[in-house]
Amino acid sequence: MITGTTRLVGIIGQPVSHSRSPLMHNTAFNTLGLDYAYVPLPVQHSQLAAAVTGLKALGFVGANVTIPHKVAIMQHLDVLDASAVQVGAVNTIVIRDGQAIGYNTDAAGFIVSLTQAGIKPAGKQAIILGAGGAARAVIAGLLQHSIASITVLARNEQKLTAFLKEVNDERVRGEIWRESIPASLLQTCDILINSTPIGMQGHAQSEISMDWQALRTTAAVCDLIYIPRLTPLLVRASREGHTVINGLRMLIEQGGLAFTLWTGQPAPRDIFEKIL
Ligand code: NAP
Repeated sequence: MITGTTRLVGIIGQPVSHSRSPLMHNTAFNTLGLDYAYVPLPVQHSQLAAAVTGLKALGFVGANVTIPHKVAIMQHLDVLDASAVQVGAVNTIVIRDGQAIGYNTDAAGFIVSLTQAGIKPAGKQAIILGAGGAARAVIAGLLQHSIASITVLARNEQKLTAFLKEVNDERVRGEIWRESIPASLLQTCDILINSTPIGMQGHAQSEISMDWQALRTTAAVCDLIYIPRLTPLLVRASREGHTVINGLRMLIEQGGLAFTLWTGQPAPRDIFEKIL
């Protein structure tokens, strides 16, 4: 119930109507008896600066930031936490003492999804398919956790070059991805990650072409997609005996970390999971 003392958080994006975050966070607030409410805040690109000023003026506790504003919002914030600098994007804002502070909880969310499945990135070799925003977050998390090497496979050479320049770490290299994933890469791969929408509901349900015999059975296969829970990639990987990890845990964890930044309380991850 909204009262005279209810504290507000929201989600800034365009569009935001599809987001499950309002339902996740409001159910969690209600269940824990916290006097908070989470509201959708559709914002045009040209209004981002005004939106941040508005959050402060209206006494918001903070907000999530989603597509397409995760990078553009950065220049309008007062302080960037190291997590946001490392990823080059903000998905969570906290308003503290009149200042808007930007965080990124996606990278930590991905690492939790790995470690919960018993996978430790230190010293491992990874392949990431795709060079977009989610790949940036995943790479930042892996680098922080001492991954040995990452090969980024992307179809657009210009975008790949720009991406590698932004990441700027000698452990990360790139290759143009035309058809199959090269078997030479699969042979030394410990963690294979899909950060493209291939296999997502509403997109082409095509399989990702690769020689499964080249991938060691000890390799983990991750997909950042959470609808469907098992993409064709994960179905096949599971059949081949690999540990498989979908995007659900990452989604829950990034929300949980934001919840704690706003409320100072541990997030009820079981509630998030039930809703998702
Ligand atoms: P994005 O910034 O648009 O990046 C997508 C990447 O995939 C780009 O490199 C794009 O290449 C590539 N790609 C798209 N279609 C492709 C195809 N058919 N073949 C080869 N490459 C293709 O998107 P994003 O924000 O990184 O999101 C990527 C995926 O991660 C989505 O499925 C999203 O739902 C998921 N995600 C999950 C979470 C979570 O919490 N679990 C969080 C964020 C994102 P081009 O640039 O050449 O198009």
